[in-house]
Amino acid sequence: MDKRRRRRARWLLFWKQEGLCFYCQQPMSLSFSHKDNIWGNAATLEHLLRRADGGGNKIRNFALACRDCNNRRGAVDWRAYKALRSNHRMM
Ligand SMILES: [Zn+2]
Repeated sequence: MDKRRRRRARWLLFWKQEGLCFYCQQPMSLSFSHKDNIWGNAATLEHLLRRADGGGNKIRNFALACRDCNNRRGAVDWRAYKALRSNHRMM
């Protein structure tokens, strides 16, 4: 996915998810500046089905997640991870 498509996908998903993280439902900050992108609540594009598991680059395979969630997910299935994060917000 090229830079322009990624940018468009982030706007679209941010609007669709009403600015909340797909996993933990906390408000995210949408920024396209690299220096802001290090914040824990920075909105990041996330593959739902990992590429290693056959996930593609179609928009339906993406969600917007805060950097914390994105960093911590690892190889966990997105459905399991979403359940975990939304049940334990302080994790
Ligand atoms: Zn999150």
